[in-house]
Amino acid sequence: MNRYPGKEKGILIVISGFSGAGKGTLVKSLISRYGNYALSVSMTTRNPRPGETDGVEYFFTDRENFEKTIAEGGLVEYAEYCGNYYGTPKAYVDSKLAEGKDIILEIEIQGALKIKKQFPDSLLLFVTPPDADTLKNRLTGRGTETEDVILKRMARAQEESEGIEAYDYIVVNDNLDECVDEVHELVSAARRSPVRRQDFIKEIREELLTYAKGAQK
Ligand code: 5GP
Repeated sequence: MNRYPGKEKGILIVISGFSGAGKGTLVKSLISRYGNYALSVSMTTRNPRPGETDGVEYFFTDRENFEKTIAEGGLVEYAEYCGNYYGTPKAYVDSKLAEGKDIILEIEIQGALKIKKQFPDSLLLFVTPPDADTLKNRLTGRGTETEDVILKRMARAQEESEGIEAYDYIVVNDNLDECVDEVHELVSAARRSPVRRQDFIKEIREELLTYAKGAQK
């Protein structure tokens, strides 16, 4: 029997990075360029930015409903970030993993660590711009945040930089196209790691055992 790595169950991919690192664009390009990725849409209590649509970038909600969803066990993880709640809906993750899709969670570090605990074979990627000035320029250039919010996010980035070692790989987003290919290569490589090929290992061991028993006769 021939078993291709691509036939294995999906990988839970966590993509974190400083606000303004270009994670959103990276993920969109990744999904449009390669098949088998599914993006989880998070729930948040922050206000929609201009151009954002409920159910597309986020499910926008209020604190009361968010806390109700937590209490009902409807989130895989959640965290508070710059005064707002953000969380990953459980139903979507469960169903897509069962379908064998590679699910992308674009979440911050506290959530990433919770995911690694719950799903030890998840893949944690940290996306960063080449330097801090580029980050500040990208945040300012976006034109959607006030100076106060930008400074808060730069301060948060400094805090988050302390946690980078918890990730499996760091990806520098300088050139978007190269970065997209690099992330896809990391996911492909991850699929070949023994920790994520347990079913394959078990089956081939059993087959080999049958031969070994035959040889002993
Ligand atoms: P933003 O407000 O810029 O869209 O997102 C702020 C931060 O929240 C980003 O770092 C983003 O990755 C993170 N985030 C988005 N959704 C989730 C989520 O479901 N859980 C967690 N823990 N963080 C999230």
